[in-house]
Amino acid sequence: MTHNVIIIGAGFSGLSAAHTLCCDFKYKVLMLEARDRIGGCTDTFRTQTNYPVDMGMKFIDTAQNNANPNLLFALTKQMNIKTMNIDPNQSITYNSVGDPENLLDNIKVVEKIKATTMLIEEVKTTLGEKIKEHPEQHLPSLAHVLHYPNNQFPKPETPEFIVRESITAMITHHTGAPIQDVSVLELLKNNQVVHKNALIEGGMQQLIDALYQKTMQSQNLTVELNMPVSEIHHDPEDALPYAVTTNHKTFKAETIICTVPLGVLKEGNIQFYPPLSQDKQDAIQHLKPSLENTVVLEFKKPFWPKVPYIYIRNGEIHEYLNLDFLSKGKTATLVCHYYGEAAQFKNKTHKQIIEDALLPLKHVFKDKFQDPIQTHISRWDKDQYARGMGCYCTKASSALDLEKIRTPESYGLYFAGKHTEKQYLSTLPLGIYDAHQSGVRVALEIDAYLKNNQELSRIARRRFH
Ligand SMILES: Cc1cc2nc3c(=O)[nH]c(=O)nc-3n(C[C@H](O)[C@H](O)[C@H](O)COP(=O)(O)OP(=O)(O)OC[C@H]3O[C@@H](n4cnc5c(N)ncnc54)[C@H](O)[C@@H]3O)c2cc1C
Repeated sequence: MTHNVIIIGAGFSGLSAAHTLCCDFKYKVLMLEARDRIGGCTDTFRTQTNYPVDMGMKFIDTAQNNANPNLLFALTKQMNIKTMNIDPNQSITYNSVGDPENLLDNIKVVEKIKATTMLIEEVKTTLGEKIKEHPEQHLPSLAHVLHYPNNQFPKPETPEFIVRESITAMITHHTGAPIQDVSVLELLKNNQVVHKNALIEGGMQQLIDALYQKTMQSQNLTVELNMPVSEIHHDPEDALPYAVTTNHKTFKAETIICTVPLGVLKEGNIQFYPPLSQDKQDAIQHLKPSLENTVVLEFKKPFWPKVPYIYIRNGEIHEYLNLDFLSKGKTATLVCHYYGEAAQFKNKTHKQIIEDALLPLKHVFKDKFQDPIQTHISRWDKDQYARGMGCYCTKASSALDLEKIRTPESYGLYFAGKHTEKQYLSTLPLGIYDAHQSGVRVALEIDAYLKNNQELSRIARRRFH
């Protein structure tokens, strides 16, 4: 069968592109996926009580207003997928000696955002003129801002220290990036985003499966699993100008959408013939993949309070999502999330990672603490088809680099994925929005490209006959 379009990667961006191309425009699409499953950074693990735990993406934004029609949430509703709201202000924070932290309890999320904005504005005013004169030399990192004005963090356990430590944690959790590397200026453009996170009841895989089933009904989509793409060739003389090589065989099509993550593009495991434009190669080098990893700790029974989130300040801030509370007692499980540098699990053993996740719990809950009956960890950094997730702007890059990646090559090679959209740039927890948007956007571009090509070949045929 001949295909109009080959989509490389069956993550949320690839599936969103396939859905629009197959259902709205009736193109024949072939999707090549390296893994033995669809879904990309969605992976649902089951506890011993068969409760689903998302090891990758898990939240969806349910905020809706005129400026933000929230098409993804609408899609979730249309597919009858239930969501569960979480109020982050109900959380408990324990301090470094194991007592509940009143100060942090009083600083609600919105106030933390306001405090961050004020801090950043303060630094921008000071550095403003210098930034205007030499933007490339004076783009401050987040670490710079948080250590301002004396180039050091405030004294431990002072209120200022706690506020700045908690801002650091909040921003690291948002960006999935090391603070000494994040561009504050790009972050500033994004930190006004108001969102209301909800968990998908029954796991994120449902949303993937629903989108896949809906697209399959069009009978225009073919999916080939276990097909890691290694080469993409373009031959303008060929009627089907694209040839895509995998470990098994070569496939041909009129045009290509590449949705592999930024980390995979950076490693250069896919060879492009002709090579990608220099602008795109530079942008791929400048941006960096963000990182989040998940540690599942399943216990026989809960020994912690009934709140959705528990935070423990123990040198760094550990965050535990309480599934016992959210599942209404169906599983005594805590899910510990690691972000940025702390999520670099590559060189750590399973035992070391679990010990790190358990230590703060032992410290706070002392005699009540019990060993887990089952543990499970994600390793998105080590995963050769992920190498991290999404992307953030370093001091040496800007949102322009995302535009360079998303700009198609002149010969009709298209790109989609979280790293090609900037609406939620540096906002890891809303990555699925950018992924979805990029898929729909690229499908519209491809439709215009193919229609234009058909028109050109019609004119050419008329001229020669
Ligand atoms: C732990 C974690 C938690 C997250 N939590 C959330 C959340 O709560 N909410 C949210 O909105 N976002 C969240 N995100 C971000 C979200 O998962 C991503 O933004 C989104 O999945 C990106 O989709 P994508 O299609 O761009 O990339 P991917 O999902 O990575 O899809 C790319 C696909 O390409 C395939 N591929 C790679 N190399 C090749 C190759 N050579 N040949 C063929 N196929 C290849 C991959 O296997 C993959 O299927 C989270 C991410 C992580 C890691």
